[in-house]
Amino acid sequence: MRLGLVIDLDTCVGCHACATACKEWNGASAVAGPLTDSDPYGADPSGTWFNRIRHYEVGAFPDSKTVNLPMSCLHCEDAACVTVCPTGASYKRADGIVLVDQDRCMGCNLCAWACPYGARELDASTGTMKKCTLCVDRVHDERLPDAERQPACVLACPTHARHYGDFDDPSSQVSKLTAERGGFGLLEELGYKPVNRYLPPREPPTVAFVAPAAVVPATPGTALDRLIALARKALG
Ligand code: SF4
Ligand code: SF4
Repeated sequence: MRLGLVIDLDTCVGCHACATACKEWNGASAVAGPLTDSDPYGADPSGTWFNRIRHYEVGAFPDSKTVNLPMSCLHCEDAACVTVCPTGASYKRADGIVLVDQDRCMGCNLCAWACPYGARELDASTGTMKKCTLCVDRVHDERLPDAERQPACVLACPTHARHYGDFDDPSSQVSKLTAERGGFGLLEELGYKPVNRYLPPREPPTVAFVAPAAVVPATPGTALDRLIALARKALG
């Protein structure tokens, strides 16, 4: 099993709903979420984020385009963060999800240095490392209806730019979308085999230019005058 996300860069509008939903599910408002917030509703809020959205302007004006790039842990198959962890706190599960055992993490920061995607954040309040859990507590919760057993970010996305599933299942939506749309992994050349895939932005459609029809000047006078004028013309 290789659980992960597909993120469609063509339809992501950069609204940050996924990042906010992640905070909602995993953060201070959650019963036992691992994501901390400091002064979340005060003047100087801070805390850890599992998911951040970066915004890039691609191309030169006027042919430029905004590309929004949501980034969280990509649950790499050969995860550098797991290899370097000296206490075994970072580990990869049989279903592909990479997690941090909070009881074994000593906050040495080695995994954050090793991760090429900047996907880990040291939580100052606990002194331990935090990262995306792929909402492991949701996706395997059999008390939830099937439709809700998905990461909070996927459920919240208003444009359905995010998809969750098993990449080892060729009939899953994530596998099909990746095959159909040429899904790619970030910085594949580094060799960590990130599981999450991104779907590239599509080219804008070419719309044929149609010249507007010539404007016929209105005949002066009332509608009745114009009608009489037309009738006279028609009758010769
Ligand atoms: Fe580890 Fe970073 Fe890969 Fe996530 S993206 S599995 S934190 S190396
Ligand atoms: Fe993009 Fe969806 Fe996240 Fe909004 S919720 S930033 S559209 S991925």
